[in-house]
Amino acid sequence: MYSSGKLVIFSAPSGSGKTTIVRHLLKKNPKLEFSISATSRDPRGQEKDGVDYHFLSTEEFRSRIDKGEFLEWEEVYAGTYYGTLRSEVSRIWDKGGHVAFDIDVVGGLNLKSHFGRRALAVYVKAPSMEILEQRLRNRGTDSEEKIVQRLAKAEEESLREPEFDITIVNDDLDRACQEAEDKIGAFLNG
Ligand code: 5GP
Repeated sequence: MYSSGKLVIFSAPSGSGKTTIVRHLLKKNPKLEFSISATSRDPRGQEKDGVDYHFLSTEEFRSRIDKGEFLEWEEVYAGTYYGTLRSEVSRIWDKGGHVAFDIDVVGGLNLKSHFGRRALAVYVKAPSMEILEQRLRNRGTDSEEKIVQRLAKAEEESLREPEFDITIVNDDLDRACQEAEDKIGAFLNG
């Protein structure tokens, strides 16, 4: 798995607009490819195995942990595992690409400490907690209890922002996408 490939890690509290920014960059940069995480949860809605996630049973997930197949993994929710397979990075690097990750703050920083300067760790955030709260409410997909939970998690995650290489403030989506394009472009070409 040693090539000239690089890694761009996007982590952010839920509601920050991170996924939209990552999708924009994947469209703009053909050498950037998405690392498909593995999870032990069931597919939701239109999600497809091998596209959105590698959906594994809990037993299969645990057995792959034991075999050392993960670069990082976490039990994000009680009984539900998520992780990055080593094979994802080699799959993309072997093709001459760069890897993009859309994962949570703890997993993102674990990957950064593993890959060091080959990785750019990007923290995406809303301009303020008030705006994040507004966005979560406007999305209309979460119950009040879930919103409170997500805000508490966001507060906790924000404490680790200084450990990231760069922060992008999603004040305006078009502007934030352009800033991400410029900064990630400079890193990949540097
Ligand atoms: P969801 O179930 O909503 O798709 O994801 C739940 C959480 O798991 C999100 O915070 C997401 O960022 C995180 N996640 C997704 N893939 C990975 C992964 O490969 N590793 C880690 N550590 N977290 C992940």
